[in-house]
Amino acid sequence: MKIHNTLTKTVDEFAPLDGQTARIYTCGPTVYNDAHIGNLSSYIYADILRRALRLAGFEIRHVINFTDVDDKTIRRSREQYPELEPNEALQKLTRHYEQVFRNDLVSIGNDISDIKFVRATESIDDIQNLIRKLLDVGAAYVADDGIYFDIAAYRRERKYGQLSKIDLPSEMRARIDNDEYDKESAQDFALWKKQKPGEPAWDFEIAGNTTRGRPGWHIECSAMSVKNLGQPFDIHTGAVDLIFPHHENEIAQSTAGDQPETYARWFVHNEHLLVDGAKMAKSKNNFYTLNDLVKKGFSPLDFRMLILQSHFQSPSNFSWDNLTAARGRLKAWQAVAELRWQTTDVDDDGQQEIVRGLLVRAGAALMENLNTPEALKHIDEAISFISKDPSNISHEALRTIFDFVDRNLGLSILSSTPDIDDNIKDMISIRQTERASGDYARSDEIRDSLRENGIELRDTSAGVIWARN
Ligand SMILES: [Zn+2]
Repeated sequence: MKIHNTLTKTVDEFAPLDGQTARIYTCGPTVYNDAHIGNLSSYIYADILRRALRLAGFEIRHVINFTDVDDKTIRRSREQYPELEPNEALQKLTRHYEQVFRNDLVSIGNDISDIKFVRATESIDDIQNLIRKLLDVGAAYVADDGIYFDIAAYRRERKYGQLSKIDLPSEMRARIDNDEYDKESAQDFALWKKQKPGEPAWDFEIAGNTTRGRPGWHIECSAMSVKNLGQPFDIHTGAVDLIFPHHENEIAQSTAGDQPETYARWFVHNEHLLVDGAKMAKSKNNFYTLNDLVKKGFSPLDFRMLILQSHFQSPSNFSWDNLTAARGRLKAWQAVAELRWQTTDVDDDGQQEIVRGLLVRAGAALMENLNTPEALKHIDEAISFISKDPSNISHEALRTIFDFVDRNLGLSILSSTPDIDDNIKDMISIRQTERASGDYARSDEIRDSLRENGIELRDTSAGVIWARN
C-alpha cells in the first residue's frame, strides 16, 4: 500500500506502526452550519483511504473531531438562541449540526459505523492537561487575554514548519486570538482564551489561579488525537488548506518539550474542490450544500462518483454538467447491475476469471496512492465486458463486480437496484404481447407510462431489457 505523505512530499510504502491497525485522525467540521460540498469531498477521500487500507489487509481505528466551540459556533449560537445560557445555546446549535454532518456522510456513501466522533467541549480536561504541559516546558505563556503558544521558544528546540516549509522571520512575537487565521505568516496562537462577556466558558486552574475561558482551535486536535490514538499515530488527514497553520501548529503543540518527536507518521492532504473552475468563496456565491444537489434531482452518490473521478491530489471540478456526466456513469453501472433480475444465469468460470483479473487491477490502483480514476477505468472495463451480451451473463461474475464496487468505492449499487415489483413485470409482459400482435400504439402507451414510473425499456436482440431511469 502506497500513499503520498505531505511530510516527505513523496509517495511512500505505508504500514501501520504496529503492523496491523492503521490509527487515523481526521479534522472534523466546525459545527455551526451545513457542510458545503468542498468539505464533504475531503471526507469522501478519507473514506476511500480507509477502504484501500482494509483492502491491503489492515484494520482501522479512526477518530474525527467536532469543533463545537470557537468564534463561529459561539456567534451563531447566541444569535439563534439568545434566551439560553451561553453553554446551553452552544450545545443546542452544535448538536444539531453534528447530526446534519453525520447524515451527510452516510448519504455520500461513507462508512461511519466504526468512527469515533469526539467533541472539543467534552475533551476540556485533556486540552487543559496539554496546555499545562506546554506552560511547564516553556512553550507557552500567559497573556492578558489568555494563554499562547510560543513559536520562538519552540523553534529553539525544534523545527517549526515541517509540512508547509514556510519561511519564518528570525524574531517575532505577533499574536493572534481570533479563529480566522492568517494564511501568510506564523504567529503565536491562542491555546486558551479568557472568557468575554456572554461567552460559554470552563474553569481552568493553573498554579492556584482560575482562568475561566475556552480552548483555541489548534489545541483541541492535538489533545483529542493523541488521547484517542496515542503518539505517534499513523495517519492524519485533511484538506490542503489545513496544512498551514492548523496542522503545523498541531505538530508544534504535540512535539514541544519532552513529548515524542513525531506527532503523526503520515499526513494525507486532499486538493480543493473547485466550482466551475474557480475556488469556492462566500463572495462568489458558489457554495453548495448536499441538499442543493438533491433539490435539483441528483443523488448524493452522483456527487461521490464525481469526486472519485479525480485523484485526491488534483483539484476536482464541480459543475452541473460534470455532475450530470457522473450521474450518467453511475446510471449505466446500475443498469448493468439490474440485468441480474432479467437474464438467465450462465455458469461460466471464464467470465469470473476475467472479471477477477480486472478487479485485481482496480484494487491495485486504489492501493497505489488511492488512484480512483484508474480504478474506475478498470471497473468500466469489467462492466462493459460482462454486459456485452445480455443472453450470456454469469450472475456470479456480475455480483463479484458490484460487491467490489460497494466495498471498496462505497457506491452501494447492489442494494440500490432491487428487482422490480410484480405489477411492473406484468405491465412489461402485456406490452410485449401488444407489440407482438402489432398494436404499437398500445405498446408505446404502456412504455411511456412505465417511463413515468421510473422504468425505461430497451428492445435488444436478447429481448426487452428494463432499467431504472
Ligand atoms: Zn484539526
